[in-house]
Amino acid sequence: MFADVIIDIRQEKLDKIFQYRIPEELEAKLQPGMEVIVPFGKGNREIKGYVTGICETCDYDLSKVKNITAISESGVEIEAKLIALAAWMRENYGGTMIQALKTVLPIKQKENARVKKRLRLLLDKETGTRQLHYYLEKNQKARARLMAALLDDPLLEYELVTKKLNITMQVIRALEEQGVLAVESEQVFRNPVKGEKQEEQRIVYTAEQQAAVDRFQSDYMNGIRQTYLIHGVTGSGKTEVYMEMIRTIVEQGKQAIVLIPEIALTYQTVMRFYRKFGDRVSIMNSRLSAGERYDQMMRARAGKVDVMIGPRSALFTPFPALGLIVIDEEHEPTYKSEQTPRYHARETAIKRAQMEGASVVLGSATPSMEAMYRAEKGEYVLFEMKNRSRMQQMAQVYTVDMREELRNGNRSILSGTLTELMEDRLEKHEQIILFLNRRGYSGFISCRECGYVVRCPHCSVSLSVHRDGMMRCHYCGYEQPKVTVCPECGSRFIGEFRAGTQQIEDIVKARFPGARVLRMDMDTTRKKDAHEKILAAFANEEADILVGTQMIVKGHDFPNVTLVGILAADMSLYTDDYRSGERTFQLLTQAAGRAGRGSRPGAAVIQTYSPDHYAVRAAAAQDYAAFYGEEIRYRELMGYPPAEELLAVLASCEDEELLEKGCHYLKEYILRVKGNAPAEVIGPASPGIDRIKDVYRRVIYIKSAEYKMLTGIKDRLEQYIEINSGFNTIRVQFDFNPM
Ligand code: ADP
Ligand code: ZN
Ligand code: ZN
Repeated sequence: MFADVIIDIRQEKLDKIFQYRIPEELEAKLQPGMEVIVPFGKGNREIKGYVTGICETCDYDLSKVKNITAISESGVEIEAKLIALAAWMRENYGGTMIQALKTVLPIKQKENARVKKRLRLLLDKETGTRQLHYYLEKNQKARARLMAALLDDPLLEYELVTKKLNITMQVIRALEEQGVLAVESEQVFRNPVKGEKQEEQRIVYTAEQQAAVDRFQSDYMNGIRQTYLIHGVTGSGKTEVYMEMIRTIVEQGKQAIVLIPEIALTYQTVMRFYRKFGDRVSIMNSRLSAGERYDQMMRARAGKVDVMIGPRSALFTPFPALGLIVIDEEHEPTYKSEQTPRYHARETAIKRAQMEGASVVLGSATPSMEAMYRAEKGEYVLFEMKNRSRMQQMAQVYTVDMREELRNGNRSILSGTLTELMEDRLEKHEQIILFLNRRGYSGFISCRECGYVVRCPHCSVSLSVHRDGMMRCHYCGYEQPKVTVCPECGSRFIGEFRAGTQQIEDIVKARFPGARVLRMDMDTTRKKDAHEKILAAFANEEADILVGTQMIVKGHDFPNVTLVGILAADMSLYTDDYRSGERTFQLLTQAAGRAGRGSRPGAAVIQTYSPDHYAVRAAAAQDYAAFYGEEIRYRELMGYPPAEELLAVLASCEDEELLEKGCHYLKEYILRVKGNAPAEVIGPASPGIDRIKDVYRRVIYIKSAEYKMLTGIKDRLEQYIEINSGFNTIRVQFDFNPM
């Protein structure tokens, strides 16, 4: 017998699996996932490795195959479980074992850039000033200098303090010990409770919350592990339910992973978990350096953490005894990885939970078609939470037909209804959110006479106009000056086609000169923390109107917002993607849910050119069931997921001709492998963007009711590509049920 062994990739950067002979005495004991000691390299150094598979035949020269030395003392451990998960991911999503392992295992990285440190003043102005006088009296000049600077700016860069203010580390440490300041690394959320568990506010659960909690607890105590889906409107108290479920498993000595999309992972949310679980909570986010992330993973592995909160990658937290995985906002597309293996966190979480005897809780106000489909089929337990926990009313929704506005002579981007409601809210000093599904100053440039659209010469996407008079490509950064004459027909009627957030900001400012307007989009949030700052300013009511893109509809609670305007609701409706209806419904529902989170009732205005589209109608009526019914019929009719499974075979190459040829062979091979089996092969076609940075792209879709059939075809394709040298320059990737 032989074993496939992957050398610990944290010790050796090896993109390869090695085969070893299994000595007889180990044969009975050895299992995939076990940690083993093997001789390695010329000197037969003893090194750690993990068994990824066992087989009876060997692919290499038998005389050169070495024996496994021993099974490591620790036997099957946390890593082994993750390796088994990686093997499953490789099988189900494609790619190499190494790619899967790199996704799953915490890998220590060399810290390049040092983490930026900051000093934070912990005293209020008054106490701080007293302290300053004290230092001055004692003639402690350095301390006084630092104190004065902190009173000026309570958050100072460490570097600035040491270099410009010429303050030594000893002085900083002394003030830290006196409780005057805290040294914190910029990337980390400071632990707001400093390790002390705070008194929780006692809340009385609603009947819907209680039912979910009771069912979970009784299942858990009876050893039942399964997947639950909480379909609960925003504010129905899902997070409270998650926390109570987590408490249940933590009391049993288990740990929990909470996945939250990065954009919704706010300070307030983390605070709620800290309040309940104290410093047994850790977080993972992109603001942490690689080293800090690794440290958090190691803390979890050592049993110092009970709850890990983070985006997709936190799913692989190496907990010793995983009890529960929560996925909040489970419908979010960010749960699908865009790198090989292109795994979906929902499916992978369910697999990991199965392997480790844990439960899974999914939550959303607008569950994905996949999740609801499985719940309807009885694969998940469904909890409906229809009421807001604090009895707030749902927003009243107006749908405005923009075609009619035009007929009535209103050519503004703001409809009559929206304008009136805005006037009313400004008068009452209530806040307004205007949501646009688009970034930048403007959309694309097109010619009104001939229809020509200015595109990036490398990426075949339209260029966007920026304030500085340049047109830029949002993929590769190509830029050129704005054209004033149509390069195609010479017409002067060439210009920006659709409004962007900046233009809306201008229009709103012109229409309501007294209003204070904030804008949030890719351009205004490029700087670090800008995102949080804008939201905080709006929450503090430093502005009356917030104009923004997708990023403003998630997460934050703004109790004083009583009006949400959704401009150009259709923009997401006609993308070339079978999920566009679902996306639009989710976006509109979420945006409408932003209005009236406080004590006053809210209103939402949906401006659309397609008021009769079922996604728009269902969102306006806030009727998930109606939307789901229509949408699932469409998916079943067209054979789209979740009714059927879809595999995208993505091919890319710098040589277009070669790519076309390769795709032709790929398709022929797929058809041959498939034979008479019930699967449909579509394409090759150009994906939405068929060229990025001068690399051409094509896609072949395979549809089938059987996932296994698709993974089977994928396996055969992987082999085919490996042995055919024609594919050396063509990159082929697999994407199951692409988003
Ligand atoms: P969701 O996650 O569904 O959006 P949350 O759990 O965040 O809902 O609850 C919304 C708000 O209502 C939070 O401020 C929360 O503390 C509060 N809340 C939740 N459940 C209750 C309850 N049973 N009684 C009072 N307040 C509640
Ligand atoms: Zn033209
Ligand atoms: Zn480009």
